[in-house]
Amino acid sequence: MKGKGVAVVGGGWAGLAAAVELAAAGVPVTVFEAARRLGGRARGVDWHGLTVDNGQHLLIGAYTETLRLLRLVGTEALLERRPLDLSQPPGFRLRLPRLPAPLHLAAGLAAAHGLSWRDKWAAARFMTALKREGYRLTCDLPLAELLQRHGQAGRLTRLLWEPICLAALNTPLAQASAQVFCNVLRDSLGGPRAASEMLLPRGDLGRLFPEAAAAYLRSRGGEVRIQARVARIDAAADGLRLDAGTATYAAVVCAVHPAQLTGLLGGLPGAETARAQASHLRYQPIQTLWLHFAAPPGFPAPMLGLTQGPGQWAFERRDLAAGLAGVVISAEGPHLELTQAALVEAVQGQLRRALGPLPALADSLLITERRATFAASPGLVRPENRTGVPGLFLAGDYTAGDHPATLEGAVRSGVQCARLILETP
Ligand SMILES: Cc1cc2nc3c(=O)[nH]c(=O)nc-3n(C[C@H](O)[C@H](O)[C@H](O)COP(=O)(O)OP(=O)(O)OC[C@H]3O[C@@H](n4cnc5c(N)ncnc54)[C@H](O)[C@@H]3O)c2cc1C
Repeated sequence: MKGKGVAVVGGGWAGLAAAVELAAAGVPVTVFEAARRLGGRARGVDWHGLTVDNGQHLLIGAYTETLRLLRLVGTEALLERRPLDLSQPPGFRLRLPRLPAPLHLAAGLAAAHGLSWRDKWAAARFMTALKREGYRLTCDLPLAELLQRHGQAGRLTRLLWEPICLAALNTPLAQASAQVFCNVLRDSLGGPRAASEMLLPRGDLGRLFPEAAAAYLRSRGGEVRIQARVARIDAAADGLRLDAGTATYAAVVCAVHPAQLTGLLGGLPGAETARAQASHLRYQPIQTLWLHFAAPPGFPAPMLGLTQGPGQWAFERRDLAAGLAGVVISAEGPHLELTQAALVEAVQGQLRRALGPLPALADSLLITERRATFAASPGLVRPENRTGVPGLFLAGDYTAGDHPATLEGAVRSGVQCARLILETP
């Protein structure tokens, strides 16, 4: 196997994770990336001499595989670790103190501002009930129904569960899979204290992993080809071939966005199930509004929850530029119909309610990723990493697994593909 090498199609976090894992095991790897920049849906974007992210991202301590790979390529220090803080000033504050689990959650809930004692008690009962069942539901259902069954009243859901659902699943409550949400709670609030800690990227996302991964691959004899779009993957007598080229590979990790899978796998016999499952996925958008103020807006914490408007989370990004803030608007909704000017106006109103007067706005940039993530709906069947085609593996945040579409899901899928390849005799 080692003699023939592996091709990775797609240089997002899943493809690069597969490539790094294979390179670490001494396997020759070539990555083909269609775009000018590596990173896919988590990449750096140039904006008037700055590099910002295509979308503001948050990682958490439960991203253990991502952290392992960042350590391997030498960039773990670009993450700032902080206790979880889901505050939405001025009305709601929830911070988890530095206490061992589950005391951190109990103490955090008890001290929360903006929830009644009845809400706090209901939230604690809900977590305890899920834990008792091992965070497994007998049958998946929409999250809104599960919350109702567990007596999670309007305000509690609006302030706590809905923001977590949108941030993690990028799917509205009424359409979101309760099981995937339970998996997220199991791995974050239900885990050790470190699992729920926030990991804030310091530096753009391209620096955090994709560029360091490419350097790591090259240092191990691997190749990274950018602006190298692959049109087809075909079977050959001695392996798999890309674009009717002459080189054949012992294995190919196809790590493209699921919407691009059908074209790539074309009529490849054995790939029918993967193609059909990918074609059933539906997608949700995420908008990121970058606001560049003439002076630092002075956030009391690096991440703030926003209410009464389209913005959900705002991040002050002094590490990228003084006065820069990134505001996240997850999932579908009427905000998609707003012009950039209207969105800027509405979000500034939300920030003023949270912070008071703002410095003058110098510039803004709106990035809309229309197919940011798959919609994590109840009972969704996702394609496996191993396909019916010998030597062909699928990596990506959408492949079968416990996680919603996240960096950790993408990285785990890539690592899993690498392990399957390494196990192949
Ligand atoms: C705006 C936004 C905000 C997000 N926020 C968070 C967050 O806070 N936390 C979190 O954990 N996750 C977040 N996510 C999700 C996370 O970014 C994705 O789950 C992850 O980046 C998916 O990686 P991937 O490698 O599976 O796919 P992709 O990133 O889509 O990678 C696929 C790659 O394949 C390339 N490609 C496609 N076709 C071809 C071809 N034919 N030949 C060669 N190359 C090809 C593409 O150019 C791309 O680079 C967010 C996503 C978005 C869009």
